[in-house]
This record gives sequence, C-alpha cells and structure tokens, in this order.
Amino acid sequence: MGNGSTRVVLVTGAARGIGLAIAHRLARQNASVILSDIDEEGLDGAIGDIRRSGSSARGMPCDVSSPAAVQELFEEALATHGRLDGLVNNAGIGGTGKTLLELELEDWEQMIRIDLTSVFLTCRAVLPAMIRQGGGRIVNIASINALTGVAGSTHYSAAKAGVIALSKSLAREVAQHRINVNVVAPGLIDTAMSRRRGIDHQRHLIPWPRIGTAEDVAGSVAFLLSDDAEYMTGQVLQPNGGAYM
Ligand code: NDP
Repeated sequence: MGNGSTRVVLVTGAARGIGLAIAHRLARQNASVILSDIDEEGLDGAIGDIRRSGSSARGMPCDVSSPAAVQELFEEALATHGRLDGLVNNAGIGGTGKTLLELELEDWEQMIRIDLTSVFLTCRAVLPAMIRQGGGRIVNIASINALTGVAGSTHYSAAKAGVIALSKSLAREVAQHRINVNVVAPGLIDTAMSRRRGIDHQRHLIPWPRIGTAEDVAGSVAFLLSDDAEYMTGQVLQPNGGAYM
C-alpha cells in the first residue's frame, strides 16, 4: 500500500487509547483517516485533535457489534472516499476479571460479539471493495492473553484467539487478491482499559523497564500498513516488552 496522500484507512475504536494513537500516527503519515467509535462525543474530540495538528480526518460513529451499523459504516466510507486501502480492527472491550465459573452466558456472548464477531462483520463489509481495487491491508488487534492464557479472562482470551485464527485463515483466502491480513497482539498497554483492572501488579511480568504505550502499538500497525510489509500476511506482531517470547 503506497504511503502517498491518497491512501484511505479506517480505524475502529479510535476515540481514545490505542485506536486514537493509531489514527494520529497514520494521519501524520498523510493517510486520509476515518475514525470510527461507538462513543460519538469522544470521536468528535479525537477528530478535532487530529485536524488541529494539521492532518485530515473524518469521524463515522458505529457500534461494530451491530451488523446493520457496520454495513452502513462501510457504505458511507466507500461512498465518501471511493476506496478503502486499510482497515484496522481495534475496537473492543476488556475482560472483567471474572473466572469462568463466575461468568454469565451474557458476559460470554457480549465479549464474543464485540471482540470477535465484529471482526468478521467488518472484514466481510470491506473485502468486496479491496478485491475490486486489487489489494488492501487489514490489521486486527488481538492480545497477549490469546497466546498465554490469563486467569479471569477466558472469554476475552478466547475472543482474541479467535481473532488470530480468523486472520490467518482469511489471509490464506485473500492473498491471491494482494490483500494482507495481519494481527498485532499487544502486551500490557497503558490505557483506560488496562487501568480499569490495574497496571502495577503486572509490572513484574514485563522484562523491558517500562509499560507499553499506545504509540508502541501504533508503530506495529503503521509498519503492517506500510510498503515494507507487502510480503507479510497471516503474521502476529507482538509489542509486549518481552512479556511473552
Ligand atoms: P479503550 O477502552 O481505551 O478504547 C477502546 C475504544 O473502543 C473505546 O473508545 C470504546 O468506546 C470503543 N468501543 C468499545 N466497544 C465498541 C463497539 N462495540 N463499537 C465501536 N467501538 C467500541 O481500549 P484500548 O485502547 O486499551 O484497547 C484497544 C484494543 O487493544 C482492544 O481491542 C483491546 O482489546 C486491545 N488490547 C489492549 C491492551 C491494553 O493493555 N490496553 C492489551 C492488548 C490488547 P467506549 O469507551 O465507549 O466503550
């Protein structure tokens, strides 16, 4: 995917945290960024921020767990820009700390819907356009939890492991169309999501002498969207400070 000013990239869950850092990074690289999020107010603030820094950005609210809303989002994005070169599936909710025995079926289903089914929905919505265009990049955000397993996180870990498996299988399906599908599986990153469950008790798990930032993840995503990653597909990048090797 070229790094010129014409590439259009849609980032979900971009009102704050990792998604917002990804949007900022891509905007600085002259991409035309569409920020999407369920939080409309947060989205307005994020767009204002990016525009004030002199870059181009557009906001399109969407609940990525709703099939109708996702369809509408991609119709609007494609009608507005005429193409979509990149999709970053970042929106998600975190685990609650409940053990499997404490989880209600509702907790499980909500997690799978928001963190996994959403990726199926957005990929399904964007692929016809990418195939028509003759290529595209999809980057899905998973988690270290999918690789290590974490107590109190069965539903989250399962959803994120599903994201990895979906991505590898889809990468094989669409390689012939020059569509790359890769995953970034971050370790502990300092955001509102991780702070809700507490960060300090996890510091000792990370060999690198600091906790990850949203910018660390944005760097991996930007690489996977860059020309340098053209030959990478079905891969899992792990910005995690060495927490899992
Ligand atoms: P945040 O909670 O800070 O940001 C996530 C954003 O996604 C929020 O704006 C949230 O809106 C939005 N969102 C939630 N549900 C939906 C939905 N159904 N439709 C659209 N948008 C939605 O999380 P992070 O930035 O920390 O996480 C981003 C991604 O990175 C997630 O997929 C997460 O699982 C993953 N990750 C995070 C790690 C961490 O340590 N922080 C580690 C590994 C992976 P609202 O606030 O209104 O819910």
